[in-house]
Amino acid sequence: MKKRRKARYSSENYIQGILQGDRVLLSQSITLIESRLENDQILAGEILEAILPHTGNSLRVGITGVPGAGKSTFIEALGKWIIDENKKLAVLAVDPSSSRTKGSIMGDKTRMPELSQDLRAYIRPSPTQSSLGGVARRTREAMLLCEAAGYEVIFVETVGVGQSETLVRGMVDFFLLLMLAGAGDELQGIKKGIMEMADAVVINKADGDNLHRAQVARAEYESALHLFPSSESGWQTPVLTCSAQEKSGMAEIWEVILRYRREMEKTGFFQKKRQEQQINWMFDAIRQNLELDFFKHPKVQAALPEWEEQVRGGKVPPLSAANSLLNMYKQS
Ligand code: GDP
Repeated sequence: MKKRRKARYSSENYIQGILQGDRVLLSQSITLIESRLENDQILAGEILEAILPHTGNSLRVGITGVPGAGKSTFIEALGKWIIDENKKLAVLAVDPSSSRTKGSIMGDKTRMPELSQDLRAYIRPSPTQSSLGGVARRTREAMLLCEAAGYEVIFVETVGVGQSETLVRGMVDFFLLLMLAGAGDELQGIKKGIMEMADAVVINKADGDNLHRAQVARAEYESALHLFPSSESGWQTPVLTCSAQEKSGMAEIWEVILRYRREMEKTGFFQKKRQEQQINWMFDAIRQNLELDFFKHPKVQAALPEWEEQVRGGKVPPLSAANSLLNMYKQS
């Protein structure tokens, strides 16, 4: 049976729609970016190229924390604060499908009921892709589309348990780590490396009986951070407390993010970081394309099972097998 394809407009329609801030056309364009169909990819490429001059104007904020840290509640609270400052906010998520649990999909609209009903906010769930690299690329591109559609602040949410935060760190201006008091670092699965990546550490759930513990944790994290070597930017990572549930502490957090931008723009670090991200993006694209091309190659595809068997049986060392396959690819 032939699969029914959804009707597509011309790229011009999407481009105009995005530039006019049309949410439906924005969503459809992001769907094109996520599509694996060749025609969709061509269309997506045209759209991206055309909107590129209209991108780069937003403040890109990554938000990470273990499941249960309160990320969606926090995004709802800080997001509300930001849109009340008359800024348009887009929320994207980086979450490989493997880390979806208990039916909760990151960025799922039901997790942010207030924001999802507000026209000043745009929420997009994580693309359904299994490879983290693929998700990262699509999120970057979705971010550009949102910028072209006039969103001034972009949140990129990720679960702080794996590699995804490194990827998100590589696509945002400011990286915020949401923590809980009382649950030791070990328990929270937060590695020292993630603490080092953070531009701000925020201890959530500073309310009720937990308030004192949150304040103690704040002091502890502050002294822990002082032991880290100073960063290239000269920025001192602040530790703050908040209650996402009670929506308290949001003004201070937003002010820290804005102060970061002010100070880093003054020193040129802000621009430098973005330039480096662009370069990394280019290398990522090269790597991804080469890999795809390699595995699509007919000779490689034909020979791969046999080489796998040989390596599995210990008859050929893995490196020799890899070199032979790569030579096949290079010679044609
Ligand atoms: P996520 O998994 O990191 O997105 O966390 P959620 O936002 O879903 O929150 C996990 C749980 O913590 C939910 O039951 C929230 O109601 C609760 N929660 C989130 N923020 C706060 C807070 O500031 N204070 C308290 N007491 N509970 C909170």
